[in-house]
Amino acid sequence: MNGLMMQQPLLVSSLLTHAERHHGEQEIVSRRVEGDIHRYRYRDLAQRARKLANTLAGLGIGHGERVGTLAWNGYRHMELYFAVSGSGAVLHTLNPRLHVDQLAYIIDHADDRAIFFDLTFLPLIESVASRIRSPKVFVAMTDRANMPAKHDLPIMLLCYEDLIDGHGDDFAWPLLDENDASSLCYTSGTTGNPKGVLYSHRSTILHTYAAALPDSLNCSARDVILPVVPMFHVNAWGLPYIACMVGAKLVFPGSSLDGKSLYELIEAEQVTLSAGVPTVWQGLLRHVAERGTTFTSMRRTIVGGAPCPTAMTAEFQERYYVDVLHAWGMTELSPVGTVCSFKGHHLSLPAHQRYAIQAKQGRAVFGIDMRIVGPDGQALSWDGQVAGDLQVRGPWVTSGYFGGEEASPLCDGWFPTGDVAKIDPDGFMQITDRSKDVIKSGGEWISSIDIENVACLHPAVASAVCIAARHPKWDERPLLLIVKKPEAVLESDELFEFFDGRVAKWWKPDAIVFVDAVPLGATGKVLKNQLREQFCDYYLKA
Ligand code: ADP
Repeated sequence: MNGLMMQQPLLVSSLLTHAERHHGEQEIVSRRVEGDIHRYRYRDLAQRARKLANTLAGLGIGHGERVGTLAWNGYRHMELYFAVSGSGAVLHTLNPRLHVDQLAYIIDHADDRAIFFDLTFLPLIESVASRIRSPKVFVAMTDRANMPAKHDLPIMLLCYEDLIDGHGDDFAWPLLDENDASSLCYTSGTTGNPKGVLYSHRSTILHTYAAALPDSLNCSARDVILPVVPMFHVNAWGLPYIACMVGAKLVFPGSSLDGKSLYELIEAEQVTLSAGVPTVWQGLLRHVAERGTTFTSMRRTIVGGAPCPTAMTAEFQERYYVDVLHAWGMTELSPVGTVCSFKGHHLSLPAHQRYAIQAKQGRAVFGIDMRIVGPDGQALSWDGQVAGDLQVRGPWVTSGYFGGEEASPLCDGWFPTGDVAKIDPDGFMQITDRSKDVIKSGGEWISSIDIENVACLHPAVASAVCIAARHPKWDERPLLLIVKKPEAVLESDELFEFFDGRVAKWWKPDAIVFVDAVPLGATGKVLKNQLREQFCDYYLKA
Protein backbone atom coordinates (compact mmCIF):
# COMPACT_ATOMS: atom_id res chain seq x y z
CA MET A 1 0.00 0.00 0.00
CA ASN A 2 1.34 3.46 -0.84
CA GLY A 3 1.95 6.09 1.79
CA LEU A 4 2.96 3.76 4.56
CA MET A 5 5.78 4.41 7.01
CA MET A 6 9.40 3.70 6.07
CA GLN A 7 10.69 0.18 6.42
CA GLN A 8 13.65 0.97 8.62
CA PRO A 9 15.12 -1.99 10.49
CA LEU A 10 15.53 -1.65 14.26
CA LEU A 11 19.28 -1.97 14.76
CA VAL A 12 21.58 -1.75 17.79
CA SER A 13 24.01 0.45 15.83
CA SER A 14 21.32 3.13 15.52
CA LEU A 15 21.50 3.69 19.28
CA LEU A 16 25.14 4.59 18.95
CA THR A 17 24.72 6.86 15.92
CA HIS A 18 21.88 8.61 17.75
CA ALA A 19 23.98 9.06 20.90
CA GLU A 20 26.93 10.39 18.89
CA ARG A 21 24.83 12.88 16.96
CA HIS A 22 22.55 14.12 19.73
CA HIS A 23 24.52 13.52 22.92
CA GLY A 24 28.11 13.51 21.64
CA GLU A 25 29.31 15.63 24.57
CA GLN A 26 27.68 13.45 27.24
CA GLU A 27 30.21 11.70 29.51
CA ILE A 28 30.96 8.05 30.15
CA VAL A 29 33.04 7.53 33.29
CA SER A 30 34.67 4.21 34.15
CA ARG A 31 36.62 2.93 37.10
CA ARG A 32 39.20 0.78 35.37
CA VAL A 33 40.75 -2.48 36.50
CA GLU A 34 44.07 -0.71 35.93
CA GLY A 35 43.11 1.29 39.04
CA ASP A 36 42.30 4.76 37.70
CA ILE A 37 39.21 6.63 36.56
CA HIS A 38 38.74 6.98 32.82
CA ARG A 39 36.41 9.48 31.25
CA TYR A 40 35.40 10.23 27.71
CA ARG A 41 32.31 11.17 25.73
CA TYR A 42 29.73 9.44 23.57
CA ARG A 43 31.43 10.75 20.44
CA ASP A 44 34.66 9.04 21.57
CA LEU A 45 32.72 5.84 22.23
CA ALA A 46 31.26 5.96 18.72
CA GLN A 47 34.60 6.66 17.10
CA ARG A 48 36.39 3.86 18.97
CA ALA A 49 33.50 1.44 18.32
CA ARG A 50 33.99 2.05 14.58
CA LYS A 51 37.73 1.38 14.93
CA LEU A 52 36.88 -1.77 16.84
CA ALA A 53 34.45 -2.83 14.11
CA ASN A 54 37.30 -2.51 11.61
CA THR A 55 39.47 -4.52 14.01
CA LEU A 56 36.88 -7.30 14.17
CA ALA A 57 36.71 -7.42 10.39
CA GLY A 58 40.53 -7.60 10.36
CA LEU A 59 40.39 -10.54 12.76
CA GLY A 60 38.09 -12.29 10.31
CA ILE A 61 34.97 -12.23 12.50
CA GLY A 62 32.07 -12.75 10.15
CA HIS A 63 28.35 -12.07 10.18
CA GLY A 64 26.55 -14.02 12.91
CA GLU A 65 29.77 -15.28 14.51
CA ARG A 66 30.07 -15.07 18.28
CA VAL A 67 32.54 -12.88 20.13
CA GLY A 68 32.92 -13.59 23.84
CA THR A 69 33.59 -10.99 26.52
CA LEU A 70 34.75 -11.65 30.05
CA ALA A 71 34.69 -8.18 31.48
CA TRP A 72 33.45 -5.83 34.18
CA ASN A 73 31.31 -2.80 33.51
CA GLY A 74 33.52 -0.33 31.67
CA TYR A 75 33.91 1.72 28.51
CA ARG A 76 35.83 -0.95 26.59
CA HIS A 77 33.07 -3.44 27.30
CA MET A 78 30.59 -0.81 26.04
CA GLU A 79 32.64 -0.44 22.84
CA LEU A 80 32.40 -4.18 22.32
CA TYR A 81 28.63 -4.07 22.91
CA PHE A 82 28.22 -1.80 19.90
CA ALA A 83 31.10 -2.83 17.65
CA VAL A 84 30.29 -6.54 17.79
CA SER A 85 26.50 -6.32 17.43
CA GLY A 86 26.63 -3.28 15.16
CA SER A 87 28.87 -5.01 12.65
CA GLY A 88 26.60 -8.06 12.46
CA ALA A 89 28.43 -10.43 14.81
CA VAL A 90 26.96 -11.66 18.09
CA LEU A 91 28.15 -10.32 21.43
CA HIS A 92 28.43 -13.21 23.88
CA THR A 93 28.82 -11.93 27.43
CA LEU A 94 30.44 -14.57 29.65
CA ASN A 95 29.86 -14.72 33.38
CA PRO A 96 33.24 -14.90 35.15
CA ARG A 97 31.60 -16.21 38.31
CA LEU A 98 30.93 -19.56 36.67
CA HIS A 99 33.13 -22.58 37.27
CA VAL A 100 35.83 -22.99 34.60
CA ASP A 101 34.26 -26.21 33.34
CA GLN A 102 30.97 -24.43 32.78
CA LEU A 103 32.69 -21.50 31.12
CA ALA A 104 34.54 -23.88 28.82
CA TYR A 105 31.26 -25.64 28.00
CA ILE A 106 29.56 -22.32 27.19
CA ILE A 107 32.44 -21.04 25.06
CA ASP A 108 32.49 -24.26 23.06
CA HIS A 109 28.71 -24.43 22.79
CA ALA A 110 28.54 -20.87 21.50
CA ASP A 111 31.60 -21.53 19.34
CA ASP A 112 33.07 -18.15 20.24
CA ARG A 113 35.61 -17.02 17.67
CA ALA A 114 37.35 -14.53 19.91
CA ILE A 115 37.41 -13.71 23.60
CA PHE A 116 38.03 -10.22 24.90
CA PHE A 117 38.82 -10.08 28.61
CA ASP A 118 39.73 -7.69 31.41
CA LEU A 119 43.16 -8.20 32.97
CA THR A 120 41.56 -9.47 36.19
CA PHE A 121 40.42 -12.54 34.30
CA LEU A 122 43.75 -13.63 32.79
CA PRO A 123 44.16 -16.54 35.27
CA LEU A 124 40.59 -17.63 34.53
CA ILE A 125 41.16 -17.47 30.77
CA GLU A 126 44.37 -19.46 31.20
CA SER A 127 42.46 -22.24 32.98
CA VAL A 128 39.64 -22.15 30.44
CA ALA A 129 41.99 -22.16 27.43
CA SER A 130 43.19 -25.70 28.04
CA ARG A 131 39.64 -26.98 28.33
CA ILE A 132 38.12 -25.54 25.17
CA ARG A 133 37.93 -27.25 21.82
CA SER A 134 38.93 -24.79 19.16
CA PRO A 135 41.69 -22.21 19.37
CA LYS A 136 40.46 -18.66 19.80
CA VAL A 137 41.67 -15.17 19.35
CA PHE A 138 42.41 -13.84 22.85
CA VAL A 139 42.44 -10.09 23.42
CA ALA A 140 43.42 -8.43 26.71
CA MET A 141 41.30 -5.30 27.18
CA THR A 142 44.15 -2.99 28.10
CA ASP A 143 46.99 -0.95 26.64
CA ARG A 144 50.56 -1.93 25.82
CA ALA A 145 51.96 -0.61 29.11
CA ASN A 146 49.65 -2.86 31.15
CA MET A 147 49.96 -6.02 29.06
CA PRO A 148 50.95 -9.04 31.14
CA ALA A 149 54.65 -9.84 30.84
CA LYS A 150 53.92 -13.54 30.48
CA HIS A 151 50.94 -15.83 30.20
CA ASP A 152 50.03 -19.47 29.79
CA LEU A 153 47.80 -19.18 26.77
CA PRO A 154 48.46 -21.60 23.91
CA ILE A 155 48.44 -18.80 21.34
CA MET A 156 49.46 -15.18 21.12
CA LEU A 157 47.68 -12.69 23.35
CA LEU A 158 46.59 -9.56 21.55
CA CYS A 159 46.41 -6.07 23.05
CA TYR A 160 43.08 -4.20 22.73
CA GLU A 161 44.51 -0.71 22.44
CA ASP A 162 47.15 -1.80 19.92
CA LEU A 163 44.45 -3.36 17.79
CA ILE A 164 42.27 -0.27 17.89
CA ASP A 165 45.19 2.05 17.19
CA GLY A 166 46.00 0.01 14.12
CA HIS A 167 42.63 0.71 12.52
CA GLY A 168 40.87 3.78 11.16
CA ASP A 169 37.45 4.98 12.28
CA ASP A 170 35.95 4.94 8.83
CA PHE A 171 33.26 2.30 9.14
CA ALA A 172 29.65 2.32 7.96
CA TRP A 173 27.37 0.24 10.17
CA PRO A 174 25.80 -2.36 7.89
CA LEU A 175 22.08 -2.38 7.20
CA LEU A 176 21.30 -5.70 8.87
CA ASP A 177 18.05 -7.59 9.09
CA GLU A 178 16.43 -6.53 12.38
CA ASN A 179 15.77 -10.19 13.14
CA ASP A 180 19.49 -11.01 13.05
CA ALA A 181 21.01 -12.04 16.35
CA SER A 182 22.78 -9.25 18.25
CA SER A 183 23.80 -10.81 21.58
CA LEU A 184 23.83 -14.01 23.55
CA CYS A 185 23.66 -14.69 27.27
CA TYR A 186 23.62 -18.08 29.00
CA THR A 187 21.38 -18.85 31.90
CA SER A 188 21.62 -21.72 34.35
CA GLY A 189 18.53 -23.79 33.85
CA THR A 190 16.93 -26.14 36.30
CA THR A 191 18.36 -29.15 34.53
CA GLY A 192 21.54 -29.94 32.69
CA ASN A 193 23.89 -27.46 31.10
CA PRO A 194 23.47 -23.69 30.88
CA LYS A 195 21.27 -22.56 28.01
CA GLY A 196 21.89 -19.70 25.62
CA VAL A 197 19.34 -16.95 25.12
CA LEU A 198 19.83 -15.21 21.79
CA TYR A 199 18.63 -11.61 21.50
CA SER A 200 17.92 -9.98 18.17
CA HIS A 201 18.44 -6.39 17.07
CA ARG A 202 14.68 -5.97 16.97
CA SER A 203 14.08 -7.44 20.42
CA THR A 204 16.87 -5.32 21.88
CA ILE A 205 15.54 -2.05 20.45
CA LEU A 206 11.93 -2.76 21.46
CA HIS A 207 13.11 -3.72 24.96
CA THR A 208 15.14 -0.53 25.14
CA TYR A 209 12.12 1.67 24.27
CA ALA A 210 9.91 -0.08 26.80
CA ALA A 211 12.48 -0.24 29.60
CA ALA A 212 13.30 3.47 29.34
CA LEU A 213 9.67 4.64 29.79
CA PRO A 214 8.71 6.79 32.81
CA ASP A 215 6.80 3.97 34.52
CA SER A 216 9.58 1.50 33.67
CA LEU A 217 13.16 2.40 34.56
CA ASN A 218 12.39 6.06 33.92
CA CYS A 219 15.61 7.19 32.24
CA SER A 220 16.33 10.55 30.63
CA ALA A 221 19.12 12.76 29.28
CA ARG A 222 19.26 14.42 32.71
CA ASP A 223 20.18 11.17 34.43
CA VAL A 224 23.57 9.96 35.57
CA ILE A 225 23.19 6.18 35.53
CA LEU A 226 25.34 3.74 37.49
CA PRO A 227 24.70 0.16 36.36
CA VAL A 228 26.05 -1.99 39.19
CA VAL A 229 24.30 -5.00 37.67
CA PRO A 230 27.06 -6.52 35.54
CA MET A 231 27.23 -6.15 31.78
CA PHE A 232 27.83 -9.92 31.73
CA HIS A 233 24.43 -10.45 33.36
CA VAL A 234 21.59 -9.94 30.85
CA ASN A 235 23.19 -6.87 29.27
CA ALA A 236 23.20 -4.99 32.59
CA TRP A 237 19.38 -5.03 32.42
CA GLY A 238 19.60 -3.14 29.12
CA LEU A 239 21.08 0.03 30.65
CA PRO A 240 23.97 0.42 28.17
CA TYR A 241 21.40 0.56 25.35
CA ILE A 242 18.96 2.71 27.29
CA ALA A 243 21.67 5.24 28.17
CA CYS A 244 22.45 5.69 24.46
CA MET A 245 18.79 6.00 23.52
CA VAL A 246 18.11 8.76 26.05
CA GLY A 247 21.58 10.32 26.20
CA ALA A 248 22.21 9.79 29.91
CA LYS A 249 25.64 10.09 31.49
CA LEU A 250 26.98 6.62 32.31
CA VAL A 251 29.15 5.67 35.26
CA PHE A 252 30.79 2.23 35.27
CA PRO A 253 32.08 0.77 38.56
CA GLY A 254 34.59 -1.74 37.15
CA SER A 255 35.42 -4.45 39.65
CA SER A 256 34.92 -2.39 42.84
CA LEU A 257 31.42 -3.26 44.01
CA ASP A 258 31.87 -2.82 47.78
CA GLY A 259 29.82 -0.21 49.62
CA LYS A 260 32.66 2.28 50.06
CA SER A 261 33.79 2.24 46.42
CA LEU A 262 30.24 2.53 45.14
CA TYR A 263 29.41 5.36 47.51
CA GLU A 264 32.50 7.34 46.51
CA LEU A 265 31.70 6.91 42.84
CA ILE A 266 28.05 7.86 43.32
CA GLU A 267 29.02 11.06 45.09
CA ALA A 268 31.98 11.98 42.88
CA GLU A 269 29.97 11.59 39.66
CA GLN A 270 26.65 12.78 41.12
CA VAL A 271 24.80 9.62 40.11
CA THR A 272 21.01 10.03 40.00
CA LEU A 273 19.95 6.45 39.20
CA SER A 274 21.57 3.12 40.01
CA ALA A 275 20.62 -0.50 39.41
CA GLY A 276 21.57 -3.73 41.11
CA VAL A 277 20.59 -6.75 43.20
CA PRO A 278 19.63 -6.38 46.88
CA THR A 279 22.96 -7.84 48.06
CA VAL A 280 24.89 -4.97 46.53
CA TRP A 281 22.63 -2.38 48.14
CA GLN A 282 23.07 -3.98 51.55
CA GLY A 283 26.80 -3.24 51.39
CA LEU A 284 26.17 0.29 50.19
CA LEU A 285 23.56 1.06 52.85
CA ARG A 286 25.79 -0.33 55.59
CA HIS A 287 28.64 1.90 54.49
CA VAL A 288 26.50 5.02 54.32
CA ALA A 289 24.97 4.31 57.75
CA GLU A 290 28.39 3.68 59.34
CA ARG A 291 29.76 6.88 57.88
CA GLY A 292 26.66 8.76 59.05
CA THR A 293 26.47 10.39 55.66
CA THR A 294 23.83 10.63 52.92
CA PHE A 295 23.34 10.67 49.16
CA THR A 296 23.50 14.14 47.69
CA SER A 297 22.41 13.29 44.13
CA MET A 298 20.91 9.81 43.97
CA ARG A 299 17.14 9.92 43.56
CA ARG A 300 16.21 6.42 42.38
CA THR A 301 17.53 2.92 42.55
CA ILE A 302 16.34 -0.09 40.59
CA VAL A 303 16.31 -3.25 42.67
CA GLY A 304 15.79 -6.57 40.93
CA GLY A 305 17.09 -10.08 40.40
CA ALA A 306 15.74 -11.08 43.82
CA PRO A 307 12.91 -9.78 46.00
CA CYS A 308 13.58 -6.37 47.50
CA PRO A 309 12.94 -6.54 51.26
CA THR A 310 10.61 -3.85 52.60
CA ALA A 311 13.21 -2.83 55.19
CA MET A 312 15.57 -1.96 52.35
CA THR A 313 12.90 0.02 50.49
CA ALA A 314 12.06 1.90 53.70
CA GLU A 315 15.69 2.66 54.51
CA PHE A 316 16.38 4.06 51.04
CA GLN A 317 13.22 6.12 50.95
CA GLU A 318 12.83 7.36 54.52
CA ARG A 319 16.43 7.87 55.48
CA TYR A 320 17.96 8.95 52.18
CA TYR A 321 15.00 10.05 49.99
CA VAL A 322 16.04 7.58 47.30
CA ASP A 323 12.99 6.03 45.60
CA VAL A 324 13.14 2.27 45.13
CA LEU A 325 11.95 0.79 41.84
CA HIS A 326 11.39 -2.90 42.37
CA ALA A 327 11.63 -4.80 39.08
CA TRP A 328 11.35 -8.36 37.92
CA GLY A 329 12.94 -9.94 34.90
CA MET A 330 14.80 -12.89 33.49
CA THR A 331 17.61 -13.61 31.07
CA GLU A 332 14.92 -15.07 28.79
CA LEU A 333 13.13 -11.69 28.87
CA SER A 334 16.06 -9.43 27.92
CA PRO A 335 15.38 -9.00 31.00
CA VAL A 336 12.65 -6.48 31.97
CA GLY A 337 9.18 -7.93 32.54
CA THR A 338 7.51 -5.95 35.31
CA VAL A 339 8.36 -2.79 37.22
CA CYS A 340 6.70 -1.66 40.41
CA SER A 341 5.80 1.97 39.85
CA PHE A 342 2.78 3.51 41.49
CA LYS A 343 -0.46 4.41 39.83
CA GLY A 344 -2.05 7.77 40.65
CA HIS A 345 -4.51 6.39 43.18
CA HIS A 346 -1.67 4.89 45.27
CA LEU A 347 -0.11 8.23 46.05
CA SER A 348 -2.58 9.14 48.78
CA LEU A 349 -2.30 5.77 50.53
CA PRO A 350 -0.72 5.55 53.99
CA ALA A 351 2.95 4.53 54.01
CA HIS A 352 2.44 0.93 55.11
CA GLN A 353 0.06 0.30 52.21
CA ARG A 354 2.49 1.81 49.75
CA TYR A 355 5.26 -0.41 51.11
CA ALA A 356 3.00 -3.43 50.64
CA ILE A 357 2.68 -2.46 46.96
CA GLN A 358 6.41 -1.90 46.60
CA ALA A 359 7.09 -5.40 47.91
CA LYS A 360 5.39 -6.65 44.74
CA GLN A 361 7.42 -7.14 41.58
CA GLY A 362 5.14 -4.75 39.73
CA ARG A 363 3.06 -4.43 36.61
CA ALA A 364 3.91 -5.54 33.09
CA VAL A 365 5.64 -3.01 30.88
CA PHE A 366 3.99 -2.55 27.49
CA GLY A 367 5.09 -5.44 25.26
CA ILE A 368 4.95 -8.06 27.99
CA ASP A 369 1.79 -10.06 28.27
CA MET A 370 1.55 -12.15 31.43
CA ARG A 371 -0.79 -14.66 33.02
CA ILE A 372 -0.83 -17.14 35.87
CA VAL A 373 -2.02 -20.68 35.31
CA GLY A 374 -3.06 -23.59 37.51
CA PRO A 375 -1.75 -27.17 37.29
CA ASP A 376 -4.23 -27.89 34.46
CA GLY A 377 -2.92 -24.97 32.40
CA GLN A 378 -6.09 -22.91 32.95
CA ALA A 379 -5.59 -19.17 33.41
CA LEU A 380 -6.27 -18.06 37.00
CA SER A 381 -7.96 -14.89 38.10
CA TRP A 382 -6.16 -11.70 39.04
CA ASP A 383 -7.57 -11.40 42.53
CA GLY A 384 -4.30 -10.94 44.40
CA GLN A 385 -5.00 -14.13 46.34
CA VAL A 386 -4.61 -17.15 44.13
CA ALA A 387 -1.10 -18.09 43.00
CA GLY A 388 -0.13 -19.96 39.85
CA ASP A 389 2.73 -20.54 37.42
CA LEU A 390 3.72 -17.27 35.84
CA GLN A 391 3.85 -17.28 32.03
CA VAL A 392 4.81 -14.46 29.69
CA ARG A 393 4.97 -13.65 26.00
CA GLY A 394 6.14 -10.72 23.95
CA PRO A 395 8.62 -9.51 21.35
CA TRP A 396 11.59 -9.68 23.76
CA VAL A 397 10.72 -13.05 25.30
CA THR A 398 12.76 -16.01 24.03
CA SER A 399 11.04 -18.70 21.98
CA GLY A 400 13.77 -21.28 22.52
CA TYR A 401 17.42 -21.75 23.36
CA PHE A 402 20.52 -21.21 21.25
CA GLY A 403 21.60 -24.32 19.42
CA GLY A 404 18.07 -25.65 19.31
CA GLU A 405 18.90 -29.04 20.86
CA GLU A 406 16.28 -28.51 23.52
CA ALA A 407 12.57 -28.99 23.01
CA SER A 408 10.74 -25.67 22.79
CA PRO A 409 10.13 -24.36 26.30
CA LEU A 410 6.84 -22.73 25.26
CA CYS A 411 3.40 -23.89 26.43
CA ASP A 412 0.65 -22.76 24.02
CA GLY A 413 2.88 -19.91 22.89
CA TRP A 414 3.64 -18.76 26.44
CA PHE A 415 7.04 -18.90 28.13
CA PRO A 416 6.84 -20.56 31.56
CA THR A 417 9.02 -18.48 33.86
CA GLY A 418 9.46 -21.06 36.62
CA ASP A 419 8.19 -18.43 39.06
CA VAL A 420 4.99 -18.84 41.02
CA ALA A 421 3.06 -15.61 41.40
CA LYS A 422 -0.21 -13.91 42.14
CA ILE A 423 -1.54 -10.86 40.35
CA ASP A 424 -3.82 -8.28 41.95
CA PRO A 425 -6.80 -6.62 40.22
CA ASP A 426 -4.61 -3.59 39.48
CA GLY A 427 -2.19 -5.82 37.52
CA PHE A 428 0.59 -5.89 40.12
CA MET A 429 2.39 -9.24 40.09
CA GLN A 430 3.97 -10.69 43.21
CA ILE A 431 6.26 -13.69 43.22
CA THR A 432 5.40 -16.10 45.99
CA ASP A 433 7.67 -19.01 45.18
CA ARG A 434 9.84 -20.57 42.56
CA SER A 435 8.96 -23.81 40.87
CA LYS A 436 12.42 -24.02 39.35
CA ASP A 437 15.13 -25.43 41.54
CA VAL A 438 18.05 -23.13 40.89
CA ILE A 439 19.43 -21.17 43.82
CA LYS A 440 19.92 -17.48 43.45
CA SER A 441 22.78 -16.20 45.57
CA GLY A 442 23.58 -12.48 45.42
CA GLY A 443 21.97 -12.25 41.99
CA GLU A 444 23.88 -15.17 40.50
CA TRP A 445 22.72 -18.70 39.87
CA ILE A 446 23.90 -21.83 41.59
CA SER A 447 22.71 -25.06 40.03
CA SER A 448 21.21 -27.32 42.66
CA ILE A 449 21.63 -30.24 40.28
CA ASP A 450 25.40 -29.70 40.00
CA ILE A 451 25.75 -29.62 43.79
CA GLU A 452 23.73 -32.82 44.08
CA ASN A 453 25.77 -34.53 41.40
CA VAL A 454 29.01 -33.74 43.22
CA ALA A 455 27.62 -34.90 46.57
CA CYS A 456 26.46 -38.17 45.02
CA LEU A 457 30.01 -38.90 43.88
CA HIS A 458 30.95 -39.38 47.53
CA PRO A 459 30.91 -43.10 48.36
CA ALA A 460 29.00 -42.60 51.63
CA VAL A 461 26.12 -40.66 50.05
CA ALA A 462 22.91 -42.48 49.13
CA SER A 463 21.01 -39.43 47.94
CA ALA A 464 21.51 -35.70 47.97
CA VAL A 465 19.04 -32.88 47.58
CA CYS A 466 20.12 -29.28 47.33
CA ILE A 467 17.58 -26.52 47.92
CA ALA A 468 17.56 -22.76 48.13
CA ALA A 469 17.30 -21.54 51.72
CA ARG A 470 16.65 -17.87 52.44
CA HIS A 471 19.72 -16.00 53.55
CA PRO A 472 19.95 -12.58 55.24
CA LYS A 473 22.84 -11.41 53.05
CA TRP A 474 22.75 -13.38 49.80
CA ASP A 475 18.94 -13.75 49.44
CA GLU A 476 19.41 -17.47 48.94
CA ARG A 477 22.18 -19.93 49.71
CA PRO A 478 22.39 -23.65 48.97
CA LEU A 479 21.44 -26.03 51.76
CA LEU A 480 22.38 -29.66 51.20
CA LEU A 481 20.26 -32.48 52.56
CA ILE A 482 22.00 -35.84 52.63
CA VAL A 483 20.75 -39.38 53.11
CA LYS A 484 23.74 -41.57 54.01
CA LYS A 485 24.18 -45.12 52.76
CA PRO A 486 23.27 -47.68 55.42
CA GLU A 487 26.13 -48.16 57.87
CA ALA A 488 28.18 -45.40 56.19
CA VAL A 489 30.09 -42.96 58.37
CA LEU A 490 30.24 -39.39 57.11
CA GLU A 491 30.76 -36.05 58.85
CA SER A 492 29.84 -32.66 57.35
CA ASP A 493 33.46 -31.49 57.29
CA GLU A 494 34.53 -34.34 55.07
CA LEU A 495 31.74 -33.65 52.62
CA PHE A 496 32.46 -29.91 52.61
CA GLU A 497 36.06 -30.66 51.67
CA PHE A 498 34.86 -33.00 48.98
CA PHE A 499 33.47 -29.96 47.14
CA ASP A 500 36.84 -28.22 46.96
CA GLY A 501 37.94 -27.97 43.34
CA ARG A 502 34.75 -29.65 42.12
CA VAL A 503 32.55 -26.53 42.10
CA ALA A 504 33.24 -22.80 42.30
CA LYS A 505 34.01 -21.87 45.94
CA TRP A 506 30.90 -19.76 46.37
CA TRP A 507 28.73 -22.64 45.16
CA LYS A 508 29.64 -24.77 48.17
CA PRO A 509 26.59 -25.26 50.39
CA ASP A 510 26.74 -23.26 53.64
CA ALA A 511 25.32 -26.14 55.64
CA ILE A 512 24.72 -29.86 55.33
CA VAL A 513 21.81 -31.54 57.07
CA PHE A 514 21.71 -35.31 57.42
CA VAL A 515 18.20 -36.71 57.05
CA ASP A 516 16.79 -40.25 57.11
CA ALA A 517 14.87 -39.93 53.87
CA VAL A 518 13.62 -37.36 51.36
CA PRO A 519 9.96 -37.14 50.25
CA LEU A 520 9.27 -38.52 46.78
CA GLY A 521 6.39 -37.73 44.45
CA ALA A 522 4.34 -40.08 42.31
CA THR A 523 6.88 -40.26 39.53
CA GLY A 524 9.74 -40.86 41.95
CA LYS A 525 10.91 -37.23 41.77
CA VAL A 526 12.06 -35.59 44.97
CA LEU A 527 9.39 -33.19 46.21
CA LYS A 528 11.66 -30.21 46.48
CA ASN A 529 8.80 -27.82 47.17
CA GLN A 530 8.01 -29.76 50.32
CA LEU A 531 11.65 -29.66 51.45
CA ARG A 532 11.89 -25.99 50.63
CA GLU A 533 8.88 -25.33 52.81
CA GLN A 534 10.44 -27.26 55.66
CA PHE A 535 13.97 -25.85 55.44
CA CYS A 536 13.67 -22.47 53.72
CA ASP A 537 14.31 -20.52 56.93
CA TYR A 538 17.28 -22.64 57.99
CA TYR A 539 19.84 -19.83 57.62
CA LEU A 540 17.52 -17.22 59.09
CA LYS A 541 17.19 -19.26 62.26
CA ALA A 542 20.87 -20.22 62.40
P1 ADP B 1 17.83 -11.27 36.51
O1 ADP B 1 18.67 -11.65 37.69
O2 ADP B 1 18.48 -10.24 35.69
O3 ADP B 1 16.44 -10.92 36.90
P2 ADP B 1 17.98 -14.08 35.75
O4 ADP B 1 17.60 -14.74 34.48
O5 ADP B 1 19.34 -14.30 36.27
O6 ADP B 1 17.70 -12.55 35.52
O7 ADP B 1 16.97 -14.50 36.90
C1 ADP B 1 15.59 -14.51 36.71
C2 ADP B 1 14.89 -15.02 37.93
O8 ADP B 1 15.30 -14.28 39.09
C3 ADP B 1 13.39 -14.85 37.90
O9 ADP B 1 12.77 -15.88 37.18
C4 ADP B 1 13.06 -14.88 39.38
O10 ADP B 1 13.02 -16.19 39.89
C5 ADP B 1 14.22 -14.14 39.99
N1 ADP B 1 13.92 -12.72 40.13
C6 ADP B 1 14.26 -11.70 39.31
N2 ADP B 1 13.83 -10.52 39.79
C7 ADP B 1 13.16 -10.79 40.94
C8 ADP B 1 12.45 -9.99 41.89
N3 ADP B 1 12.37 -8.68 41.82
N4 ADP B 1 11.89 -10.66 42.93
C9 ADP B 1 11.96 -12.00 43.06
N5 ADP B 1 12.62 -12.79 42.21
C10 ADP B 1 13.22 -12.20 41.15
